[in-house]
Amino acid sequence: MSVSERQSGSRKTRIVMKFGGTSVANIERIKSVAARVKREVDAGHEVAVVVSAMSGVTNQLVDWCKEIAPLHDAREYDTVVASGEQVTCGLTAIALQELGVNARSWLGWQAPIVTDDAHGKARIVSIASEELDKRFAQGQVAVFAGFQGVGPDNRVTTLGRGGSDTSAVAIAAAIKADRCDIFTDVDGVYTTDPRIVAKAQKLDKITYEEMLEMASLGAKVLQTRSVEMAMKHRVRVQVLSSFEDKPGTLVVDEEEIMEKELVSGIAYSRDEAKITLTRVADRPGVAAGIFGPLTDANINVDMIVQNISEDGATTDMTFTVSKGDYDRALKVLEGSRNTLEFKDLISDKNVVKVSVIGVGMRSHAGIAQRMFKALAEKGINIQVISTSEIKISVLVAEEYTELAVRALHSAYGLDAA
Ligand code: ADP
Ligand code: ASP
Ligand code: MG
Repeated sequence: MSVSERQSGSRKTRIVMKFGGTSVANIERIKSVAARVKREVDAGHEVAVVVSAMSGVTNQLVDWCKEIAPLHDAREYDTVVASGEQVTCGLTAIALQELGVNARSWLGWQAPIVTDDAHGKARIVSIASEELDKRFAQGQVAVFAGFQGVGPDNRVTTLGRGGSDTSAVAIAAAIKADRCDIFTDVDGVYTTDPRIVAKAQKLDKITYEEMLEMASLGAKVLQTRSVEMAMKHRVRVQVLSSFEDKPGTLVVDEEEIMEKELVSGIAYSRDEAKITLTRVADRPGVAAGIFGPLTDANINVDMIVQNISEDGATTDMTFTVSKGDYDRALKVLEGSRNTLEFKDLISDKNVVKVSVIGVGMRSHAGIAQRMFKALAEKGINIQVISTSEIKISVLVAEEYTELAVRALHSAYGLDAA
């Protein structure tokens, strides 16, 4: 049954409510989450809740794995890090029961939320909804442990950092929810991270596409995959505060936004590392020779620049990888030194990628120029540039993160009055 069929029939409105780490940080917060959920239940809605681990818990669990073995078994990593969500989903169910709400917890394997076997960054393959439908009909609230699923070999998997957002959107798609509310510690999506730019403005609406770019370029308010999934299944996502009672930001189709800004946001990512290979041969097949082994090692390369050859025979190649892949990337490149015949391998982790994003870029010229000028005025050197239809990214030295983001926020007229 489609959402509209359900709405027109006698079925109740179905909502998914996801609460992030700070929203379930302690018992008081969990009680207040339960009270917030009860309001929706009392309003006659069918509710599925998705919770993260208490804030700080996942970091601690990750650190413990690294402490025992830096290159630990990914399956056991998942067994460890999934435990944070198990605690909060049980506690939230208890808190709801204490308020007289019929509630039951669900771990990933119980639902089941079936994923592939990419431990540590698994993708959701399917979610069974029949049992949940039955429970909803009995008036029961389902409380899910976010971030986790079950792989093809019946082992626990996790969906990558920030993955509870994806759990929530996937559940919303599976149960054909009318809304998916993502409760967090800010009251919506802002023009940039409000923690580093005080003048950032809250957006009432943002398009799926822009949100996707913002997330993938570093705005961690939503996990990138959750936005991909919302876009694909047309899930109505709202980002809002669990601390204040007010409307948040709706993620919507482009047609729903009347006034399109040229630039709608600025994002930054410190998760970048720059690698330069000097004096590689300037002939066909060299790029394939460099990036092939990296791809084989499952390392994603992001920005790439190849200089023009000065001597006609050799050139420099610069590119970026995520900090997490950095050590492995260096190892792979050193391993192919003989076949690639580069002179030096220069690497730099002290970089940040700053990006401006906006669907208005499609139809307007001069956006990039404004970015370069604003950075030049602050004396910030641009190391690498990359562009796509609705974004421009530059790589700069990490110490300029705040300065660059603030300068660009002002340059595009995004500062709050
Ligand atoms: P949760 O634990 O609820 O999942 P996260 O810490 O993952 O919360 O995401 C919320 C944080 O995202 C905010 O505290 C904020 O600092 C950060 N953030 C980065 N960019 C943005 C943005 N453009 N708008 C809102 N928040 C942002
Ligand atoms: N607890 C997990 C993390 O910290 C998942 C999440 O919070 O979304 O990454
Ligand atoms: Mg998060």
